[in-house]
Amino acid sequence: MNIPTDKITRWIRPEIRALSAYHVPDPGDCIKLDAMENPYTWPEWLIEAWLETLREVSLNRYPDPGARQLKERLRACMQVPADMEILLGNGSDELIQMIALAVARPGRVVLAPEPSFVMYRMIATLVGMDYVGVPLDGEFQLDMAAMGTAIEAHQPAVIFLAYPNNPTGNLFRADDIEAILKTAPGLVVVDEAYAPFTDASFLARLRHYDNLLVLRTVSKMGLAGLRLGLLIGAPGWLGEIDKTRLPYNINVLTQASGEFALRHVEVLEEQARMIRTDRAALLAALEELPGLEVFPSDANFILFRVPAGRGQELFDALKERRVLIKNLSGAGGVLADCLRVTVGKPEENEAFLRALRAAL
Ligand SMILES: *Cc1c(COP(=O)(O)O)cnc(C)c1O
Repeated sequence: MNIPTDKITRWIRPEIRALSAYHVPDPGDCIKLDAMENPYTWPEWLIEAWLETLREVSLNRYPDPGARQLKERLRACMQVPADMEILLGNGSDELIQMIALAVARPGRVVLAPEPSFVMYRMIATLVGMDYVGVPLDGEFQLDMAAMGTAIEAHQPAVIFLAYPNNPTGNLFRADDIEAILKTAPGLVVVDEAYAPFTDASFLARLRHYDNLLVLRTVSKMGLAGLRLGLLIGAPGWLGEIDKTRLPYNINVLTQASGEFALRHVEVLEEQARMIRTDRAALLAALEELPGLEVFPSDANFILFRVPAGRGQELFDALKERRVLIKNLSGAGGVLADCLRVTVGKPEENEAFLRALRAAL
């Protein structure tokens, strides 16, 4: 059926029509190094034990709306301060949306440095808020003068700071984030999606700043398929944000599997350790290649700049050789000629390096 364009333009909001849908490329039979996934599966004994656990799940019943057991596991595994509350989302993406829904009003602003995680802008638009992106400086650090001016001018309801930042991989200076916490009129959400790959965190600072919330996810630590994120902060804020949550947003399979996986969190922690070691090796190998600028990373991916104007060509050449990474070169600005590779298994990283050497 063909829907007449005028009907669509009459009813679908213009800001939605202007969006392009979040695009996820089909990996085909490529080695998948594009999405910051943990490349490792579980040992056989763990899979068997997990399947046993799933036998007990009652699919005919609604899940525990508060997911209490899962929350307690997360609290212990992530060292959540005892006086802080936890709110769960269907991925941290849903929590970003819940935060935005709780503060949304026409004319209100979501602010984030750029480049950063694309969902901050997308969700601001979805909930009818204005979005202000403040360019990072040449070192991918916060431009504090520009941030100060933008905060003063726009009085943002929420500032999102990814720590480490995606897609650049670096940590912003903690002093800069603290300065923003002190001047921001509204909420400051420190998004720690890559916490398994860095020693830095703002969790311990929650009790020092009454406008700070910390966002975590189990996706990058090896459970991306579960869709489970958590927001950590003072009960006063989280009690309000919780009202935007649809009931039963964390399904029974996610609750049971998440709880099970966190009972064996040492397996995931060991995988994260391997990824951190392999990140150093991959970084060193990339630095050996002629003509590349390689950026240090506290995450499970590495951003690198290829010779001017060759981003698309090299991305395509890698794909031709069955290696899928992320092409950011089209974004321009500080990301001009940049590609991003997720740290995979050693043999996947080798295949990527071989393909890149051949293509260069
Ligand atoms: C991947 C990513 C997320 C999304 O995590 P989900 O829990 O899978 O929704 C959030 N923030 C940043 C910065 C990310 O890179």
